[in-house]
Amino acid sequence: MDVDAVLFDLDGTLCTADQSGEQLYFGAFDRAGVEPFGRPEALWEALDYPPPPGGWRASLIAAFAKVAAAHGRTVDAEALAAGFQEVADPGAVSFRPGAREALASAREVGPVGLVTNGPERRQGPKLSTLGLEGRFDVTVFAGDAVERKPHPAPFRRALDALGVDASRAAYVGNSLEYDVAGAAAAGLVSVWCPDVDGTEPDGYRPDHVIEHVGDLGSVLRRGDRP
Ligand SMILES: [Mg+2]
Repeated sequence: MDVDAVLFDLDGTLCTADQSGEQLYFGAFDRAGVEPFGRPEALWEALDYPPPPGGWRASLIAAFAKVAAAHGRTVDAEALAAGFQEVADPGAVSFRPGAREALASAREVGPVGLVTNGPERRQGPKLSTLGLEGRFDVTVFAGDAVERKPHPAPFRRALDALGVDASRAAYVGNSLEYDVAGAAAAGLVSVWCPDVDGTEPDGYRPDHVIEHVGDLGSVLRRGDRP
């Protein structure tokens, strides 16, 4: 791949959350003093992503209320949302295996950037845990802006800051819907590294697919064009 800069997604690409869905979901019931019901998957499904203008808390309250309604329960959704946020530690993340190697390989190519859909308030503690604070040549927290991935705007902001043409940059991400589609819309070379085994690209067309993010180096060193 012949590029001059590499941009990365954060969640699910460079890092994974240390807290399980069960820990967060049932922890919220515990904090709120509500007898638990349901499963975390239903809550994730009910959550708006990206969060609505009312913010993460509003989205959590609505989602808990929805899950409760599906179970025919009436609960204090505000208490559950508050409990959830008490339990959730935004800085509890670890590097995905191979992520450090991927960053080092990208660094050999040129400037390295981060384009994440989360707001700085949520993503900053993760970068600090990983020792990545201030380590990118450009960081775009799209969650603090109006346009988020898959909109091309956050990619353009990063490229403008670096002075690199979109066609000369690669974007590495785990999401087809946000990363691969967004990179394509902005004209970057997309590199998809699924974080769930056996996922198929369906209708999406990543320019490159790597099984592990640590394989990025071999793709970058290959001289071919996508
Ligand atoms: Mg991701």
